[in-house]
Amino acid sequence: MFEVSVDETFSSGHALRGYKGKCENVHGHNYKVRVTLAGPKLDSIGLLYDFVHLKQAIQSVIRTLDHRHLNDFAPFDTINPSAENIAQHIFEEISKQMKSAENGATISQVTVWETDVTSATYRP
Ligand SMILES: [Zn+2]
Repeated sequence: MFEVSVDETFSSGHALRGYKGKCENVHGHNYKVRVTLAGPKLDSIGLLYDFVHLKQAIQSVIRTLDHRHLNDFAPFDTINPSAENIAQHIFEEISKQMKSAENGATISQVTVWETDVTSATYRP
């Protein structure tokens, strides 16, 4: 099995509804996102997936989140913008944009860091 990953960052505000503590107040994070693809075989030129295409897909999703208050728009106007839910959201949005790969490469997981030491990972 091969894996490739691309990291990206964005800055956003959020507030966790129903959380008993300071995270229920509006605050911000400099998020880091890692999108990982996995697949059993490489293409004819030795790639699992083209990094350029993967970066473009990630950036198009990150653009919708960057410098915004996440609670203000779907799906985070109804579900909490926790790192876990953000990871799932990014996974689903990037999945819609990915060109299907003949070698079977698919997104295996998305990890979102809220700080250097706290992260959440979504895996389908
Ligand atoms: Zn937070």
